Amino acid sequence: MAVYGIDLGTTYSCIARIDDVGRPTVLRNIEGADTTPSVVYFESADSVVVGQSAKDATVLDPDHVVQLIKRDMGDVVPREFHGRTYTPEEISARILRKLVDDAKATAGEEARDVVISVPAYFGLAERDATRKAGEIAGLRVLDVVAEPIAAALDYGALEGDEERGDRAVLVYDLGGGTFDTTVLTLRGRELTVLCTDGAKELGGSDFDDRIVAHLVERFRERFPDADDPLSDPQSETQLRKDAEEAKKALSFRERYTVRVMHQGRVEAVELTRGLIEELTRDLLDRTVDITRRTVELAAERGVPSFDDVLLVGGATKMPAVAAALRTQFGFEPRLHNPDLAVARGAAFYALDRAAYMVSSGELSDEQAPDVPETGLTHRPYEISTVASRGYGIRVTDIDTGREYVTHLVHANDGLPASVTDDFFTLRDGQRQVRIQVMEQAGAVESEELAHNTAVAQGTLKIPPGKPARWPFQCVFTLDASGLLTVVATERESGEQIEISIQIGGLSQEAVDEARVAMSRQRIG
Ligand code: ADP
Ligand code: MG
Repeated sequence: MAVYGIDLGTTYSCIARIDDVGRPTVLRNIEGADTTPSVVYFESADSVVVGQSAKDATVLDPDHVVQLIKRDMGDVVPREFHGRTYTPEEISARILRKLVDDAKATAGEEARDVVISVPAYFGLAERDATRKAGEIAGLRVLDVVAEPIAAALDYGALEGDEERGDRAVLVYDLGGGTFDTTVLTLRGRELTVLCTDGAKELGGSDFDDRIVAHLVERFRERFPDADDPLSDPQSETQLRKDAEEAKKALSFRERYTVRVMHQGRVEAVELTRGLIEELTRDLLDRTVDITRRTVELAAERGVPSFDDVLLVGGATKMPAVAAALRTQFGFEPRLHNPDLAVARGAAFYALDRAAYMVSSGELSDEQAPDVPETGLTHRPYEISTVASRGYGIRVTDIDTGREYVTHLVHANDGLPASVTDDFFTLRDGQRQVRIQVMEQAGAVESEELAHNTAVAQGTLKIPPGKPARWPFQCVFTLDASGLLTVVATERESGEQIEISIQIGGLSQEAVDEARVAMSRQRIG
């Protein structure tokens, strides 16, 4: 059995496996490219197109094309096409199917057992939705792995991590739709994440937006009486495609000309690398600010400097990224397989996971992965990571009645984590308390209810006749993989409840139905 690593990206996806001699290999799609646009075109009720052709279809039929679906993972936002509704899991499943089918066509092998990467900041619901997307695509998802961990595994394996001493690594990942930065240490085969931070809505496509705005401005200067090209979906998508092409080209060239066409008029706009850098400087500055936050937290945690700074994500090919990190921090960043590292590292991790699952009996011997003869992967990695979100309880201020969230576990706390705190009843004679477990929703922890998501609840009994402010205890335990359990105890009676998290994603039946429905559809 071969195992595969999949980078299911916001804008581009990639699949890799470990070859016979232990090296990760990216499997090309049938168009011959290493990465596949994460774009899905619902051409008709029984035909779906994924990848570059879907991206091209955006120009002609934008209403049937879905982009950036990863941003909706974990949320309930169905979309309707040709009389059928599709959840984000089902749409992502079609991207996965394309990757796997193409891998079969080009490498001759059916991929079934996979590890899918997820952003470090994904919470429980998003991770669960990612697994379910895999199941809908008919895959066995051995695990999900955080993208910076995967990137570091690829890097560590390349560097021959066994021979080298401890290394502190900063991963700076600027993709199409997201930015994140992570500090981790590699020590032999021990990998420890110290801290991670990022912005969910900051990536290469924001750079494209700036270029589009500039092109439109120049077009309108030239043709003041013409309509706004952005008011026409076709012109807009063409402009977005051209802007992205220009941006990519300008990573290697100094100048590039885009022909802006709208209502039969054409304006050739010359772009230079310097101009793009000027138009997008504030975006880059935001990544620098977030990186600074991460670097400072790492220093507090005993890692004041880095042996390597890895640039991951396609947008780090812009020379301005490395330049900013050099001037702002004195780093010597390295472009490390920016588009492919995550899939390659996920493949390493998949091999490890499968070997472990065979040894623990979760997979049978027949399901054992083919271990390369001269593998780098004979000893599993030990990975320790941090909480991706804060978790807490919804409480009421006894004096003002204000409701807010008190967090017991915070983002970037080392895992496993266990935190105990006391809470109190509100009223005399109160016989029960409703315990509502909340997950931090935004990038930064906040007490506001609206900045948190309810993930579970339970009711604890209180003995009769107790005054207000009667205490009870809550213990939050987050295991090494980020799964949360909460135990609440009333100490006098010994009454105890355990609350485990309901993620609330698709049920198993819904997943099975979606898988059957998808198998009837042509995906290409
Ligand atoms: P994802 O966010 O899906 O993980 P990637 O890491 O593949 O995405 O990064 C995709 C982003 O990288 C896109 O915005 C794309 O335009 C950008 N990109 C790819 N190649 C280049 C390049 N040569 N120069 C600048 N940006 C690039
Ligand atoms: Mg990525």
